[in-house]
Amino acid sequence: AAKASGRGQLQLYAPPLSAAAQQRSMAVQQLGLALRRGELELYYQPQVRATDTQLLGFEALLRWRHPDQGIIAPATFITVAEETGLIVPIGEWVLRAACEQAAQWPGDLRIAVNLSAAQLRSGRIVEAVADALVRSGLPPHRLELEVTESVVVDERSVEVLLQLKALGAELSLDDFGTGYSSLASLSRLPVSRLKIDRSFITALDTGEEQARALVAAIVQLAKSLRLITVAEGVETARQQAAVQELECEVIQGYLHGRPEPAEAWTPWLDELRASAR
Ligand code: C2E
Ligand code: MG
Ligand code: MG
Ligand code: MG
Repeated sequence: AAKASGRGQLQLYAPPLSAAAQQRSMAVQQLGLALRRGELELYYQPQVRATDTQLLGFEALLRWRHPDQGIIAPATFITVAEETGLIVPIGEWVLRAACEQAAQWPGDLRIAVNLSAAQLRSGRIVEAVADALVRSGLPPHRLELEVTESVVVDERSVEVLLQLKALGAELSLDDFGTGYSSLASLSRLPVSRLKIDRSFITALDTGEEQARALVAAIVQLAKSLRLITVAEGVETARQQAAVQELECEVIQGYLHGRPEPAEAWTPWLDELRASAR
């Protein structure tokens, strides 16, 4: 009806969307199709042992290869996926693809997969993880599931985490230190790893004693709870030296590799296979 009454009126009833809102509504429509069209991809970022930088595994990070816009990072579409519920089918695809990929890797290399709170609340996550493990044949201990502190506020989600752990998967607390209930989370969640948020690692480069003291305290806390610590976002040799000295166990960051398609890591994996022989 608005259309029939002419341009001026149309504006009255349906004001033009702001650029941001327009982009968002397009994203919602296109994201629904992206999965079916095979536009979603996983990139893999290495995690290495801090003491000798030996490869331990990778974190799977979602990318959207948009037909017009090229590669889109998850920050711009994960929230939309969570709000619309699309994160459930997308997350199931991520789990399957990541486990299938990791099953091809040599030795005991691990794969870390991010789970959002919406997935944990979906009622489908335990089955989805079990399904991905069975289909791929990946030994459960090689799958690591990353959750953030936000899940601790939901009692049911803590229950779900216990079920995921019972499947044999490892649980990691991602972005540790950025949430509002860090200490409470640690004691209530059945996690075995703690990923120290990049913001703490970045601060190590300023050489400030305070930044160092903070990371040292987190590592000590983790040690006393028998949790493995992962330093996220290590970009410089100086940051690496600092986290090594503080006895953080695992390092992930641009220094050792950015997230890349699986094929990019083939030479490194071939080298590992060769040296294992
Ligand atoms: P995250 O799980 O904390 O992943 C680490 C993010 O830090 C990644 O961003 C990675 O590219 C970036 N990063 C790693 N090392 C460095 C570094 O040295 N310097 C800098 N500047 N950045 C570094 P990315 O890939 O854009 O992912 C952002 C977030 O999106 C992830 O944070 C995670 O919360 C979410 N996400 C990614 N993939 C998935 C997924 O499959 N499912 C769900 N639910 N969330 C995902
Ligand atoms: Mg993560
Ligand atoms: Mg993180
Ligand atoms: Mg994050």
